[in-house]
Amino acid sequence: MKRYDFPKLDLHLHLDGAISVNTIFELAKERGIKLPSNNPEGLVPYVTADADISDVNEYLKKFEIPTAVLQDKPALRRAAREAVINLGEQGVRYAEIRFAPQLHTKKFLKQPDAIDAVLEGISEGKMESDNVDIGLILCAMSFGDASLNKKENLETVRLASELKGKGIDGIDLAGAECLCPLSDFSYIFEEAKDLNLSYTCHAGDSDGPESVRTAILDFGARRIGHGHRIIEDTELCRLAAGLGVTLEICLTSNIQCKTQASYETHPAKRLMDMGIKVTLNTDNPVIAGVTLDSEYDFAVLQGGFSMNDLIRANINSVEASFMPPNLKNKLLEELSGKIK
Ligand SMILES: [Zn+2]
Repeated sequence: MKRYDFPKLDLHLHLDGAISVNTIFELAKERGIKLPSNNPEGLVPYVTADADISDVNEYLKKFEIPTAVLQDKPALRRAAREAVINLGEQGVRYAEIRFAPQLHTKKFLKQPDAIDAVLEGISEGKMESDNVDIGLILCAMSFGDASLNKKENLETVRLASELKGKGIDGIDLAGAECLCPLSDFSYIFEEAKDLNLSYTCHAGDSDGPESVRTAILDFGARRIGHGHRIIEDTELCRLAAGLGVTLEICLTSNIQCKTQASYETHPAKRLMDMGIKVTLNTDNPVIAGVTLDSEYDFAVLQGGFSMNDLIRANINSVEASFMPPNLKNKLLEELSGKIK
């Protein structure tokens, strides 16, 4: 019998954090990319997180090898296809995969090529899986100074608009937090609003609650990637609850990045009890070494969640997702029927 017998959703899943170590190894070998190990086992410490990571920036280094192998269409297509198949095998009903096309233009691809390849891979993966639906979010990136890659970020937003309803469901801002004020990236969300795009925004993970305030009030975001540090500002928590803001919580990722100390002290359950719409997600399943089921185990055994809380978190995911209304209604009905 399945441990979690209800539709499971993952709203926060980075493609480049979801490629298996074997696939990274094979892609690198095929392309003559030098690796720090001659076998997949030896590669593990370089592409997965462990307890020795000191902060989020060290965590982000784990993406270097996965990104290096994903610089052509066949590699991106394979990564996307396998990610979808893995989700299907884990019984995930719906996931929003996200990736930053500009990270895949280091050789000869342009952003539209990278998007095409990922869309093809998703479509192949869906054909080979049972009962999994997938959304795709394009990430703009923060590398530090917000003007560094403004042109590339605006291209990502424009492409999301061109492909809206043709495989792309929204945009996000990902990358390093804290290197410059989040407010410097307002140009991304101004453009998204003008183009009537759905969006989420990473904030309140390594950066403090002020970044969540910026995302909510200045950018108009109603979905926040992570956002758990909102707990440090009670008034902001009340505001977020009143506005129906959804937090894309990724427990293990927060602990590995040292932005929360432990599953026991993670504020996810407290935030939920304050009326904030909490969702539970994997972030980077291979890098973090997790699945949705293992995140649910941590939430229940150490984080204070009941089974009904997990179902409510998935109801929150459906409501905040960028999925089409007919699927939304269907999943809401299924999930509501599971609450005891
Ligand atoms: Zn993320």
